[in-house]
Order: sequence, then C-alpha cells, then structure tokens
Amino acid sequence: MGPRPNLLTRRAAGVASTTLALLLSTAAVGVVPAASAFSAAPGGACAEPADSHANARVKPGAGATHEPNELTAKQVRERDADLAAALRERANFRAGAGATTLATVTIPVVVHVIQRDSTRAGGNIPDSLITSQISVLNQAYAGGTGGAATAFAFRLDKINRVTNPSWYPIVDGSSAERSMKSSLRVGGKNTLNIYLGELSDDLLGWATFPQRKLSSMDGVVVLNESLPGGTATNYNQGDTGTHEIGHWLNLYHTFQGGCGGSGDGVSDTPAEASPAYECPTGRNTCSATGLDPITNFMDYTYDSCMYQFTPGQASRMLTAWNAYRAA
Ligand SMILES: [Zn+2]
Repeated sequence: MGPRPNLLTRRAAGVASTTLALLLSTAAVGVVPAASAFSAAPGGACAEPADSHANARVKPGAGATHEPNELTAKQVRERDADLAAALRERANFRAGAGATTLATVTIPVVVHVIQRDSTRAGGNIPDSLITSQISVLNQAYAGGTGGAATAFAFRLDKINRVTNPSWYPIVDGSSAERSMKSSLRVGGKNTLNIYLGELSDDLLGWATFPQRKLSSMDGVVVLNESLPGGTATNYNQGDTGTHEIGHWLNLYHTFQGGCGGSGDGVSDTPAEASPAYECPTGRNTCSATGLDPITNFMDYTYDSCMYQFTPGQASRMLTAWNAYRAA
C-alpha cells in the first residue's frame, strides 16, 4: 500500500483491511515462542538496563544531535536481555499466553496538559484535540488505518490541566521535567501518562521504554500542537502520539541499528540505514530485501505518510506488555 495521501483515505482504506490485519496479527503472536525470548537471555542477567532513556521523534533539521532516544547496540542488547529476564520473572507467563490476550488490553490514559497560561499559545489546547488523539490511537492500534491490528485499545480516564510556567516548554532531560513528572504521574505500570506542551529543541515528542521497576519518569511527552487538528504543519494528524506510545510499548525506530545486526528486533520491518523524513516513496537504503518502511509509525516521516504497525511489531508490543506492564 502506498503512502496515505490524507487522513480520509487512510481511514477508508483501513476499514477493508482490518479483518485481514487482525488475522495476520493473531498468527504472528501465535508463533512468537516464549522459549526464544528465554534463550536470548544471558545467564543470570537481571539488572535494570543502564539506559532508561526516552525515545524521541524529531522533525527534519531539528538537530539529530538532540535525538534523546537513539540507542547504541549495547543498549539494545541490555534491553533485550532485560526483556527476557522480565518474562522469566513473570510467574503467570507461559508459552501461548500472548495469543489469548490479543485485542484485550485496554490501557487507561491520563493526559496532563501543561500550560504557561490560559492562551492557546501558552498551551491551552481544547479537550476536543485530546479526544481526537485518543480516537487516532484506537484506530492506529486496531489496524484501522491499514496496518496490523495490535492488542491495544486506549481509554481516556482524565484530562489534568496544569498551569506552571516553570514547566513550559517541557525540556527533555531537565530537572523541570523530572519535577513535573514526579508531581503529576499517576497509576501503575499499565497506566499511560501523556504530557502535552510546547517542547524543547523542536522535538515532536519522546517516551520511556518499559522497565521492571516503575519509574516516576514513565510516560510519553507529546507536542501539544501535534494532536489531530493542531498547528504543527505535516505533523498534526496525531501520529506523534502513536509513535511515542510505540516506544512506551517497547518498539524501536525502524532505522535502529541501520542496515546490519538485529535492527529494531522485528523481522517484518525491512532494514533502513537512517531515518526517513517527509515521504520518500521507493526509498531503499539497505541491500537486504524490502524497501525502507517509510509508512511505519516508527519511522520519522510526515503524519500523512505513516499509517501502519506490522504484525511483528504488534507481537513485540504484546510480549513487552506481558513482561512489564500487565497487572
Ligand atoms: Zn521515536
């Protein structure tokens, strides 16, 4: 399927493919053996990964040096080992458990709207953008835009409006961010806390990967005007939220690791040498089979270009959910 030209088209296209996508996703989950995750673990490794880094999404030219989220190969190995160890720790985890929970995970969502003042420029976005964002998430994660269906649905539990100029804009990695999150974060490991605001360094958003021990930093930060109907040109259909929550559910970028190695740890996303921006149809940066996955939610393309997760990504997210976030 080519890049979606606009929101209407991708939604319409998604309707026809939803059933098939759900079936594909079921099959993919079924063939992910717990044993393979176990065998990937080095003996006795049970330390938290050294990296609890967030993972970001940036605009072109926003300063690649400021990608808070690019993982080194070592960090990927540590996270993979930690995932395997977390699965072992789960007394209730067994082979095949993933398949039985398909399409049954509803994630409670709390949205913190950080504002400098009561103006729109000061962060006061209307509730309607937030409810639209939840709809976009539910469509994307259900495969309703043309990709694989995942296990996940999202339920908006609360909108929490906070006026605090010292937290605005939200600065990645700052003490203000830590202070904001420790003050505001609610719920257990299964609760998705979304922080909306103007962001530092032209970032569209960033997220934390799942960890065994709940951190007060856990959650996703999203540019307020990237919500559907916002003012962030080319990035205002809500896919930054979709992308960041992908990280929160343990997905890496499709360009993780470049052309070599295990890449993003997902077999059905072709390798990609570097992030794709805008919508470079036909891009092919690695000699391995398959064009670059520029329409994948975990790349860096325009919202109008990205519309899908793969069955492998759906499976990886569900495995991580069972390991880290399930109650
Ligand atoms: Zn990212």
